[in-house]
Amino acid sequence: MKKIDEILTEDIRSIAIVGHMRPDGDCVGSCMGLYNYLKDNYSFDVDIYLDDFASSLLFMRYSEQINANTDKTKAYDLFIAVDCSDRQRLGTGSEFFETAGRTVCIDHHISNQGYCEINHLNADACAAGEVLYELLEEDKISKATAECLYTAIVHDSGVFQYSSVTPRTMEIAGKLMGKGIDFSNIVAKTFYEKSYNRNQVLGRALLESVRLMEGKCIFSVISAANMEFYRVKPKDLDGIVESLRNTEGVEVAIFLYETNAQEYKVSLRSKDAVDVSRVASYYGGGGHIKAAGCTMHGSVYDVINNLTKHIERQLMEGSR
Ligand code: 5GP
Ligand code: MN
Repeated sequence: MKKIDEILTEDIRSIAIVGHMRPDGDCVGSCMGLYNYLKDNYSFDVDIYLDDFASSLLFMRYSEQINANTDKTKAYDLFIAVDCSDRQRLGTGSEFFETAGRTVCIDHHISNQGYCEINHLNADACAAGEVLYELLEEDKISKATAECLYTAIVHDSGVFQYSSVTPRTMEIAGKLMGKGIDFSNIVAKTFYEKSYNRNQVLGRALLESVRLMEGKCIFSVISAANMEFYRVKPKDLDGIVESLRNTEGVEVAIFLYETNAQEYKVSLRSKDAVDVSRVASYYGGGGHIKAAGCTMHGSVYDVINNLTKHIERQLMEGSR
């Protein structure tokens, strides 16, 4: 019996699928993959909830069903949290957590402490889509589900580039390709293609980036005024921090965008020497060793000063 059947016990009729705030490709792909799988193979009353996300991901089958339920008092038999490391980071639909009969988490964040009753966690998996795949029955995966799971894995692995990718990741990707999906189009349209405005903001962030610690650290900031000028939303800023990290000599990249007066959303990426999930967790955030985030208060100067203190300490420890 596959793990999914241990979760889908006989007493279950209704299911809510919920992702994390500001969902990325892995979150949307794994939530939609699970939704498609349940729709294809079972007759549950399933609802899916997600915050606003990149329009390039709307190609997934049933995406018009997202947030379709408007009954806020609905109590589900089963609540499945996907790609979400803690209770506080659940996005739209988080209100159904408390009243659900049972809660299940499917995730790959190292900072996940297991906030559900059943937790399927694997911090060695490169994407939540990979953790989910391992729970499913291969021959029940349709082409539509495979498109979602492939998208999930592509996005969290940087198109199979990051060190989190394992031989198993490639095996899973191969199985999904075998379902007849248009994999090159998925990569081109959802990962690389950006609107003109998104590219302009990326250019601006690179142009105004500043190097610190003899080039080992780089940071850039986009103000709320800039976001308004280029008419972009937070979801349009994905990928900027990865571009900063691609700078030669850089160990850690920091990208900030202003969310309120004196409040910044922080994205951290590292190459090898620094565990950025440790840095983010000092400020109430979390994530993975090489990709993490948090929200910080104060001026840009305060935020950068605080972050670089921790980064510098880790770099010193590593060089000893
Ligand atoms: P990003 O920089 O792309 O927003 O996030 C990178 C990683 O860090 C993701 O895996 C994301 O889930 C995690 N992350 C980002 N911001 C936060 C936060 O405020 N709290 C926690 N716990 N994790 C975060
Ligand atoms: Mn993920």
